[in-house]
Amino acid sequence: MKIMPNRLDKGFFQYQEEFEQKALEVLRSGWYVLGNEVKSFEEEFAVYTGAKYCVGVASGLDALWIAFRVLGIGQGDEVIVQGNTYIASVMGITINGATPVFVEPDEYNNIDAGKIEEKITKKTKAILAVHLYGQASNMGPVAALADKYHLRLVEDCAQSHGACFEGRMTGTFGDIGCFSFYPSKNLGAFGDGGAIVTDDARIAEDVRVFRNYGSEKRYYNKVVGTNSRLDEMQAGLLRVRLKHLEELTGERRKICNRYLEELKNEKIRLPEIRKGATTVWHQFVIHCKDRDRLMEYLNERQIGTIIHYPIPPHLSEAYQYLGFHKGDFPVTERYADEVLSLPLYNGMTKEEQTMVIEAVNRFV
Ligand SMILES: *Cc1c(COP(=O)(O)O)cnc(C)c1O
Repeated sequence: MKIMPNRLDKGFFQYQEEFEQKALEVLRSGWYVLGNEVKSFEEEFAVYTGAKYCVGVASGLDALWIAFRVLGIGQGDEVIVQGNTYIASVMGITINGATPVFVEPDEYNNIDAGKIEEKITKKTKAILAVHLYGQASNMGPVAALADKYHLRLVEDCAQSHGACFEGRMTGTFGDIGCFSFYPSKNLGAFGDGGAIVTDDARIAEDVRVFRNYGSEKRYYNKVVGTNSRLDEMQAGLLRVRLKHLEELTGERRKICNRYLEELKNEKIRLPEIRKGATTVWHQFVIHCKDRDRLMEYLNERQIGTIIHYPIPPHLSEAYQYLGFHKGDFPVTERYADEVLSLPLYNGMTKEEQTMVIEAVNRFV
């Protein structure tokens, strides 16, 4: 038996009938883009997060770059972001011509709030807080800094659907919360999808117009927008999954609590959760100095793992033009060499969990 790092089929079969019924309903409706499913999903997801408005878009990356676009952030502006994020967070900034300013992560793999202030310049316009691996960032100090320096605060919640900091949902701390519904995310569609949430009616309206060629009224275009619409099929299927999201998160929590209790190997550091924060366990990420050997060892035992992420954005080929070098962000770079995501997915059996635990515990 091979254990995959992630698998999506089981998450479908858990609610197969409901998904299939909804798919047929959408197919038979004769309405496939920007209709009632999208409208209902937007209302339901806004309620879920506690934000006033939600606007669906075509992907998490679109949510990010459109967020910065409607906030007017572009050429000559700087946006603060953690160094160890998925590259899409950074692309959301650079697509607009703005410059990412990297900050090292803390021990919870999120932005180190204590290292933000020293990076703020006259050009700084925003902080992008990424809630990596499902855990809420240290939003108290992050929001306070945004406030103090009159910066925009955007959240990348692609991995944190439902995660809270001091009882408040990620995505609702700043101006805009950006979500992805890529199939492997905690709230996954069956294709691409994304959304922004906000309490600001003006921002919601600007995104609504921007995602549909900049038109408020058909064929009357206010701005040069884009085509980034959540389709009816994805929105309908997301509504089904959203109804079960708390159960699905509970199941992930159970698996991870078992990992936390039973994984015992002094060569690995287990994930920790910040006081006041919750995690929805998008990934279960361990740190290991011997990571490559551990990965190889697990692979030989039919246990697949993934590195999130092997190359930090500042060292990726795409961002050579920013002029960074190896050694510029030692913590970020060390994390890239140490992190390993253990198998984790809805529908993972007890036996599969046991196999992972026993194999990791025997690694020497
Ligand atoms: C997945 C992800 C994105 C991008 O979402 P897509 O829907 O794939 O475009 C952005 N940021 C983070 C942190 C992600 O994990």
